[in-house]
Amino acid sequence: MSLITVRPEGLYCSAGDFYIDPWRPVENALITHAHADHARSGSESYVAIASAEGVLRKRLGQDIALQGIQYGDKLKYGNTWVSFHSAGHVLGSAQVRVEHNDEVWVVSGDYKRCADPTCAPFEVVPCDVFITEATFGLPIYKWDTGEETARQIYEWWQSDRERPSILFCYAFGKAQRVLSELAKFTDQTVYVHGAIAALNDIYREQGVQMLPTVNTADMPKSHKYTGDLVLAPPSGHRSSWMKRFKSPQTAFASGWMAVRGARRRRGYERGFVLSDHADWSSLIRTVQETGAKQVYVTHGQNDILSRYLQEVCHVNAQPLETLFEGEGDI
Ligand SMILES: [Zn+2]
Ligand SMILES: [Zn+2]
Repeated sequence: MSLITVRPEGLYCSAGDFYIDPWRPVENALITHAHADHARSGSESYVAIASAEGVLRKRLGQDIALQGIQYGDKLKYGNTWVSFHSAGHVLGSAQVRVEHNDEVWVVSGDYKRCADPTCAPFEVVPCDVFITEATFGLPIYKWDTGEETARQIYEWWQSDRERPSILFCYAFGKAQRVLSELAKFTDQTVYVHGAIAALNDIYREQGVQMLPTVNTADMPKSHKYTGDLVLAPPSGHRSSWMKRFKSPQTAFASGWMAVRGARRRRGYERGFVLSDHADWSSLIRTVQETGAKQVYVTHGQNDILSRYLQEVCHVNAQPLETLFEGEGDI
């Protein structure tokens, strides 16, 4: 029998009696990171990396039973040893390594290989079986560095100082990465939507360096935002919050901006390709570096990546159906 299986509640390890990122309430929930499709409310107890605690409590409730651990700490569950290892995805994100008898499984959660000043870098964890995400599991997905994309964002912002520049991006992870990378180019204050402001506070408490920010809710109604950069979550687009800006230029930062037509369909003037997930070549490189003999592929393009791994890389691979959603979460 497999060490980890899919149950209606989520990914389950019977030898240790715990779930990883369950999508229904369970007794023991091990959480890879605080994005909404991986961290759901209602479980009796949670374990996560300590630096993820602020966001997890904000989203799941201040009074959840949560044990914060460090990368590499070893926990004993039943007959298994469990440890968390950096996934390079967002603050406090982890892969979960499960060891049982002589077999090692790793559940990747979401991960990326590009440098990101807001979180610890991805760690390659050797294993026998690797459960990988494949949000961007198509060859068309190929990322520039975050610094290069931030330079493009900075130039776009500076190119029109007559209007406000509003950049839409996911409030947790992406916004902080943009604010941190932009600090390489400027020291100007950036204005942020309230949803982003609350998360910035949590990142700063963890020592992450970012440009100074001000919540738009704290600004006088008369402020014009001329020449200012404003960051907002996608839900702010075409909301009443937007009424304070006179004819802004708009852009969206996401991995999805690599798809032709995606920017126009969403009604943004510019698109910047910036993702907190691994691109196609990083997915394949990571699978190979783990040395896994068996790979299960979750999220998005799982059938295409698993077929490629099978036919071209000669790795046993198959899709695994889960409720993880990829880069759609805020
Ligand atoms: Zn995520
Ligand atoms: Zn995910």
